[in-house]
Amino acid sequence: MAAGKNPSDSALAAIVSSPDFDGELSSLADRKRREVYSDEVYLRGLIEISSYCRNNCYYCGLRAGNANALRYRLSKDEILEVCKEGYGLGFRTFVLQGGEDPSFTDSFICDVVSSIKKLYPDCAVTLSIGERDYSSYKAFFDAGADRYLLRHETADEKHYRMLHPESMSLQKRKECLFALKEIGYQVGSGFMVGSPYQTVDNIVADLRFLQLLSPDMIGIGPFVSHWSTPFKDFENGSALLTVRLVSVLRLLFPHSLIPATTSLATIGEEYRKKALISGANVIMPNLTPLKVRKKYELYNRKLSSSLESAQAVEQIKAMLTDIGYRAASSRGDVKRPDN
Ligand code: SAH
Ligand code: SF4
Repeated sequence: MAAGKNPSDSALAAIVSSPDFDGELSSLADRKRREVYSDEVYLRGLIEISSYCRNNCYYCGLRAGNANALRYRLSKDEILEVCKEGYGLGFRTFVLQGGEDPSFTDSFICDVVSSIKKLYPDCAVTLSIGERDYSSYKAFFDAGADRYLLRHETADEKHYRMLHPESMSLQKRKECLFALKEIGYQVGSGFMVGSPYQTVDNIVADLRFLQLLSPDMIGIGPFVSHWSTPFKDFENGSALLTVRLVSVLRLLFPHSLIPATTSLATIGEEYRKKALISGANVIMPNLTPLKVRKKYELYNRKLSSSLESAQAVEQIKAMLTDIGYRAASSRGDVKRPDN
């Protein structure tokens, strides 16, 4: 698969159908990432601001219907406190992620965002708090938010229905993504690999949707089952297929920011490195306060310690050097082709 070319559906389907690591594809993708992003890997401090969620995605441990979930939400002071720690550790992007928590009003989020930007003007703030109205997204942007992560999860209507209850819709998700783009955010989308009922054609449709959206960031990770969700008995997604798809994404979207995700490293630490040598150029270590970190349980045994922990930044840097990359100290904005 050559970079910059648009492969046919059947060519993409053939790549996605094979479960093994493809060394050639991986080095092609690595060459492309080095052309655009050199050997830099961007670090983001992930702050999980709330484990409350009003939604009921069937795959997620934070779903409202999970009575076993442990709930918490961080206060403004707690968020600022971890930003301070993160800044000291060298992070220049903070990602505020959470369930769709109705207690987080627009004014609260705006206040938190503008306070972070005032204290750390050289940092980027990324939000990942789900679906909101256009006016809310606009207010967050005006308060200083730079980026927004909202995975489309699956671009196929029928598959979307199998993963979400009636109260949610793919149409709404897409509207949110295009609204975020229009407002001016650096936008991230993506999907789970191996989510229940996912077919090869679904993945091809996901890639086509991403081509239409043309996001700045693309996050993919294997589905990992959660013990207290309707999908508790489903198999986890394939880590090697995820790595393959990271390479495909790098070749289709040479300028995008692609993380080696937590769910990938949860399946096996070795897959984080495999993703990094196969086109990924971002990692998002966890900065969430230790006293609540375990409560943000999207899926079983979600990794939040060792190299997944922001406090391990020196080990992370050493790991990167070890495999031929360099942790960047900048905000790590997207390099668009026209920039
Ligand atoms: N509520 C926000 C952000 C938190 S969820 C949102 O939904 O956008 C962040 C991501 O975690 C989701 O987009 C989903 O793709 C991923 N996720 C949730 N449950 C998962 C699971 N069981 N396995 C793998 N990824 C999961
Ligand atoms: Fe809520 Fe996000 Fe989990 Fe869906 S994936 S239940 S929106 S936290």
